[in-house]
Amino acid sequence: MTGTVQCFVVGSPIGHSRSPLIHRLFAEQCGIALRYEKREVAPGTLAAAVAVFRQMGARGINVTVPLKEEACGLATALTVRARTAGAANVLSFNADGSLEADNTDGIGLVRDLESRGVRLAGERLLLIGAGGAARGVLPALLDAGVATVTVANRTVARANALVAALAGLGSVAAASLDEEFAAPFDLVLNATSAGLTSTGGPPVSRSALGTSTVCYDLVYGRAETPFLAWAGSCGVTRRIDGLGMLVEQAAAAFEHWHGRKPATAPVIAALRHQR
Ligand code: NDP
Repeated sequence: MTGTVQCFVVGSPIGHSRSPLIHRLFAEQCGIALRYEKREVAPGTLAAAVAVFRQMGARGINVTVPLKEEACGLATALTVRARTAGAANVLSFNADGSLEADNTDGIGLVRDLESRGVRLAGERLLLIGAGGAARGVLPALLDAGVATVTVANRTVARANALVAALAGLGSVAAASLDEEFAAPFDLVLNATSAGLTSTGGPPVSRSALGTSTVCYDLVYGRAETPFLAWAGSCGVTRRIDGLGMLVEQAAAAFEHWHGRKPATAPVIAALRHQR
C-alpha cells in the first residue's frame, strides 16, 4: 500500500504486547495508513534487527523489556530524557539518517496521573523499584514538581545508584523495602516487576500508606494487581493500574512519528473493555 508507514515493537517475550492494537486504534483515529508489527528480539541482537528495519524503510520502533538499555546504547542521538534514564522505549529513524532514542515512560505516567486529577506538585512520593521503569519515570516526576521522592528497592545499592544519578534534579533519597516511615506518603508507585516480595510479605512497610494515599502500579492485568490488592487491604481507596500509562507512552511515540496527537481516553476504554 503506497504511503503506508511501517513501525515495530520489539522485546522478549513480545507475544503479550498490546502495542500493535494501541497503535492501530490511534492510526484509525487519525486516518493514517500504518503497518505496526511485533518482533521477538533476543538480548544482544537488537543492532541486527534495527539494521533490517532500516532496510525496510521503517519509521520507528517501540522497545520493551529487556532491551531498553541496549536500545539506548545503539542510538546515534539521544533526547535528554533518554540520556537521563539510560534507557529508551522509542527508537526513531530520523530523516537526517540518525537513530534517535527517546524515553516516553515518564511523560506517559505523568499524563495518566494528571488526567485522573492526581496532584504531583509539592507531594511526597515513594517509588518502589530501581530498574529501567523507575529510571524512566523518576526524571518526569521531579520535573512535574514533586517535593520529595524516596526510592525503595530490594537491592538497596541499586536504589543508591539511581538516587546518585538523579540527585541533581531534585530531592531524592534511597531506602530499603523494610524501612519504617514516620508519615504516610501522598503517592506510592510500584515500579517493580513483582507485586509482592518473593517471601510473600508486603511490598513495603504499611507505614508508607494512609487513607488519602494514592497507590499506582505500573503493572496492569486482567485482575487487580497484587500490589493494589495489598493497598486495598490497608484501606487505600484510590488505586490505579498502569494501563493508562501504557497508552499515554504509546501516544507520545505516535505523535513523534506521525505528527498527530491521538485521543487516549477512547483507547484506554477500549483496552479495558477488551479484558
Ligand atoms: P527491571 O527488570 O529493570 O527492574 C525490576 C525491578 O523490580 C527492580 O527494582 C527489582 O529489584 C524489582 N524486583 C523484581 N523482583 C522482585 C521481588 N521479588 N521483590 C522485590 N522487588 C523485585 O524491570 P522494569 O523496571 O523495566 O519494569 C518494572 C515493571 O514495570 C514491569 O512489570 C513492567 O512491565 C512495568 N512497566 C510498565 C509500563 C507501563 O507503561 N505501564 C512501562 C514500563 C514498565 P532489584 O533491583 O532488587 O532486582
